[in-house]
Amino acid sequence: MEVLFRLLGDKGYTYDFRKNSSTNAMEDLFFMHPTSYMMFRAFPHVLIIDTTYNTNEYKLPLVQIIGVTSTGKTITIALSFISKEKDDNFTWVLTRLKAMLHKCMMPRVILTDRDLALMNACNVVFPDAAKLLCKWHISQNIKKHCKQRFGRGVFDYVNANWLVKYKEMFVSAWTDQVLHFRNSTTNRVESAHALLKKHLLTMKSTLENFVGVNDQIMKLQQKTIKGTFEDIRNKKMNDHDIPLFKELRGNVSILTLEIFVKELNRMNKIIEHGYGCGCHIRTSCSLPCACMLSNYLTAYETIPLDSTDIF
Ligand SMILES: [Zn+2]
Repeated sequence: MEVLFRLLGDKGYTYDFRKNSSTNAMEDLFFMHPTSYMMFRAFPHVLIIDTTYNTNEYKLPLVQIIGVTSTGKTITIALSFISKEKDDNFTWVLTRLKAMLHKCMMPRVILTDRDLALMNACNVVFPDAAKLLCKWHISQNIKKHCKQRFGRGVFDYVNANWLVKYKEMFVSAWTDQVLHFRNSTTNRVESAHALLKKHLLTMKSTLENFVGVNDQIMKLQQKTIKGTFEDIRNKKMNDHDIPLFKELRGNVSILTLEIFVKELNRMNKIIEHGYGCGCHIRTSCSLPCACMLSNYLTAYETIPLDSTDIF
């Protein structure tokens, strides 16, 4: 353990651990790469959290906490080895995470699969964040159970297990009423598990090797993210070169401009067919929706930069 802590300290990680009071054995370890610390404070808005296995010689479950940049890229926020997957362990991990945001904005959206202990901990530590369940896991779970049941049984299963308790957390009609910045699955954290395992090369890695592998992954992520921020200044796209986007170009991500291009196409369809706007982009991404874009165009105004979300 001393070797590991020295390694984490030398590499500039922020870390914390706790021991079992009777056996003095390490129970839980939380650690955050210096790049993750910087990124988390810049982009605390979305967290995607999941536990994975077979990553270390002690067979400790690993909690991976993933974030998303405004340019739509995945970033590893923090990692934690835990001794048990109980409310108390997850609460300890999330409390360490929250401490990193001293005087910063708190997470606004947290995605998990239906792990009750983790969900409880999220509610305790981040009571104000919207909690969403992974759509993919829910559809897989429903498919699995529907194979065994037919007709009424299927409805009863979905209703009893999902709709009654969790409908606000995953059905689009509800989830589009809360901010989610277009994250509806935990796929990003699943990919992060896979990437980590590809680099670890073994299911029984030493903790020192694990830290080295995380360093490599952080370098890759940092390079990709840097590229997407350079694109904001350098990338020229024809359909972004319109007066409506004048205040936004160079100041928001290419991804955001692409959302607006889609919203403009939707606006034309709405006008053509007389549909209602629905305003989902406004409620789920905190960006001006088709009906608002139409108003800016009619008034010969540009989209104001401050009408877009801080994210
Ligand atoms: Zn609208």
